[in-house]
Amino acid sequence: MRVLWLADTLRRAGVTVVEHDGWQTRGWEPWEPQYGIVHATAAPRTQSDDRQVAIVRDGHSTLAGPIANACVDRAGTWHVLASGGCNTALTGWGGPANGLGNASLLGVEACNDNGLAQPPEEWPDVQYDALVLGWSAIAQQLGWSSDRIVGHKEHQPGDKSDPLFDMNTFRAAIQGGKPMGLKRFSGVTTGPLGTRIDEMVAKYYPKADELWITSAYRPTETGSHHAGLTYGGSPTAAVDFCGNAPGGFGPESQRRMRDFAKWCYDTFGDLLVELIHTTPYSDDSGFYVRNGVKYPGGGPFGSPTTRGTVANQHSDHVHLATSAALLDRIIARLEAAAPPPPPPPAPEPEPEPEPVPDVDLAKLAELLLKPLADVLLPAAVAAAERVAKDELAGSTYRLTKV
Ligand SMILES: [Zn+2]
Ligand SMILES: [Zn+2]
Repeated sequence: MRVLWLADTLRRAGVTVVEHDGWQTRGWEPWEPQYGIVHATAAPRTQSDDRQVAIVRDGHSTLAGPIANACVDRAGTWHVLASGGCNTALTGWGGPANGLGNASLLGVEACNDNGLAQPPEEWPDVQYDALVLGWSAIAQQLGWSSDRIVGHKEHQPGDKSDPLFDMNTFRAAIQGGKPMGLKRFSGVTTGPLGTRIDEMVAKYYPKADELWITSAYRPTETGSHHAGLTYGGSPTAAVDFCGNAPGGFGPESQRRMRDFAKWCYDTFGDLLVELIHTTPYSDDSGFYVRNGVKYPGGGPFGSPTTRGTVANQHSDHVHLATSAALLDRIIARLEAAAPPPPPPPAPEPEPEPEPVPDVDLAKLAELLLKPLADVLLPAAVAAAERVAKDELAGSTYRLTKV
């Protein structure tokens, strides 16, 4: 097949599209895409977007092009390059598309250095959101659920690391059909519990779009909830958040972090293993929780104004840790507090009964009921009189046959 709908489908999804000459006939057949492969170019970030897109389209000295069906530049523009099969991946040995190769894969590259230089190049919002929107549109066009969208690193584990962003978060965003409010720095990974914490915040915190996840799973940090401990026998995880205000750290970012920390503290502070956030404001005492106990002013984390204390080191992010068991209770509480779902649509009105011609229903009822009434009413009156007499005579009440 050829994905000749690709450019139109992407445009309908609301992303900017550039069609590269000849894309309708570029790429080979037969080709039946079963899965989509998400890539990062892993090129030096000094290499221009135009150059990277051209290499994806035309190939290079050791790899014939096209390398992918499309390439998304750093401004979020989808460059449509090929409508048929591409040299996009090896036959995979992991992930959902295990065992499949180019004849079954639709590939999309994106300009990003993928950690070629440290720290890894961040994904601009506009590019990440365009990837979510475009992939969502492709999946819908092909009738795929988001689990057909696979990271190259999942397809060739150990060999490839692209893209560095978390594929589960990416798939969740695709499934929603629109970008998730809660973004994360590239390269941040979460374990299963950290992912659930992210999902809880994304779903229930009304201003999740004001936050970045800056760090989560740090396996080498033994003794920290970032590496995973247990609390009350249940595994824990920690996630760090900062405000995503334009311009980075500053008053607006601080306001966003304070609002989030206060929401956590007020809504489910008693269900957290740790909450640590120091604010610059005089009308709060910071937000500190350890093992479900609130400690205004810092408590076990030290004085927020003393250099080097844990509290002092938490003015530029909100650290939140909880356990799997406590997270269940947090979600149950948030769910109970959530506004009720809208009422089901009103049932279809019963159709009007067909009028029965030539019969006067009132007249008919009178004819049928009058003889009954003539018999029953006097009998009922007589029965009532008998009961009344018995009562007056002091005898016990008895059933009286009509
Ligand atoms: Zn790749
Ligand atoms: Zn932390």
